[in-house]
Amino acid sequence: MTETKKHQIVIAGGGSAGIATAASLLKRRAGLDIAIVEPREEHYYQPGWTMVGGGVFVKEETCRSEASVMPEAVTWIKQAVRGFDPEVKTVDLADGTRLAYDLLIVAMGNRLAWEEVEGLEETLGKNGVTSNYRYDLAPYTWELVQQTRKGRALFTQPPMPIKCAGAPQKAMYLSCSEWEKRGVLGDIEVEFHNQGGVLFGVGDYVPALMEYIERYGVDLNFGSNLVRVDGAAKTAWFATEDGEVERTFDMLHVCPPQKGNAVVAASALANEAGYADVDQHSLQHTRYPDVFALGDCSSTPNAKTMAAARKQAPVAAVNALAQLDGKPMAAQYDGYGSCPLTVENGKIVLAEFGYGGVLKPSFPRWLLDGTRPSKAAWKLKANVLPSIYWNAMLKGREWMAKPVGMA
Ligand code: FAD
Repeated sequence: MTETKKHQIVIAGGGSAGIATAASLLKRRAGLDIAIVEPREEHYYQPGWTMVGGGVFVKEETCRSEASVMPEAVTWIKQAVRGFDPEVKTVDLADGTRLAYDLLIVAMGNRLAWEEVEGLEETLGKNGVTSNYRYDLAPYTWELVQQTRKGRALFTQPPMPIKCAGAPQKAMYLSCSEWEKRGVLGDIEVEFHNQGGVLFGVGDYVPALMEYIERYGVDLNFGSNLVRVDGAAKTAWFATEDGEVERTFDMLHVCPPQKGNAVVAASALANEAGYADVDQHSLQHTRYPDVFALGDCSSTPNAKTMAAARKQAPVAAVNALAQLDGKPMAAQYDGYGSCPLTVENGKIVLAEFGYGGVLKPSFPRWLLDGTRPSKAAWKLKANVLPSIYWNAMLKGREWMAKPVGMA
């Protein structure tokens, strides 16, 4: 018989958004009974993987134990969620346990669908095929960049939505920057294959990015979607309007296709696309008022980034507590997301924007103009943001993350 355990608040997923929300809840109300369901022993700072692929960080800098980031007052349930029944307010776990809740917060991330590209999984990490989207593979990107002195390097971007939409081109710019420094860039044909039709979704950042595309001599291919790889033959195939295009390569950096989290997608919480269906401002579920969702698993149409989760966590915390108390929800999420585009080693174009592509710079223009490459933005990413993540965001110190709508 299924055993049922009850917690006041159940948080599904102990990644960036889940831990930050727990910390924000406890900061507002110590003594809450919160359980976080998270099967993994490791906790990753994924934005650091671009820097690992660019030889700036070592991978170990981007990983800590899950135990070390788990707030002390929280019950950590080291299990995977298998399903949700929001009608009766329960969560089923892989070991057969059933959890009951007053409030559920879903923060289970999205799914990297490597299997959608034929032949990809078996060649990842060898034959010159890599991806910064995996902790264990990001160092291989840097290894390949160092090995490559001539030939052809391909960088791919799948259909949206993906987490950190800039990451596929960030990998390319940092590779080019290194090849330029070593004086071999002229001997390497660099191609960007993007399923979409624009270099970046918010036009204000495109001119600066185009300067780098020209400087590095990148061949831009829009409407070109990676569908098949033969690692041993060092050949990739792309679906385009004009049919399938075949390209040989010496190095291939892949950004995998991405989907809604599989457990969320299979549940009553999902919208048609497989994401937890929430109001884009309050983060409350559209059909189940005791459920909130944030981060990469949610339906909110913002740029799926850590920076977004940093802003969403306090909003989810404030509104979830209001729901628990039967009071009106006061906090609103404005769609803020950020993408530090590493255009060269030492400079970043810092894209920060909200819903509708409205620019939302954190700094006055005289201090940091996000639409232009700057050393200040590089210092922010390389030296400041990791520490903000580990020491502020995951600890309920809501630096520059005050919810819109709050006095
Ligand atoms: P995650 O942090 O992925 O956490 C989801 C958690 O849910 C995981 O711990 C997982 O184990 C758990 N989970 C999954 N399924 C289950 C289940 N069934 N049961 C229980 N738990 C489950 N963002 C930026 O802001 N700036 C950047 O520069 C940036 N660069 C990036 C570069 C790369 C290469 C990548 C991959 C990402 C980057 N991001 C960046 C995006 C950022 O890392 C994510 O948007 C952020 O981590 C989302 O947080 P999350 O909590 O929603 O998901």
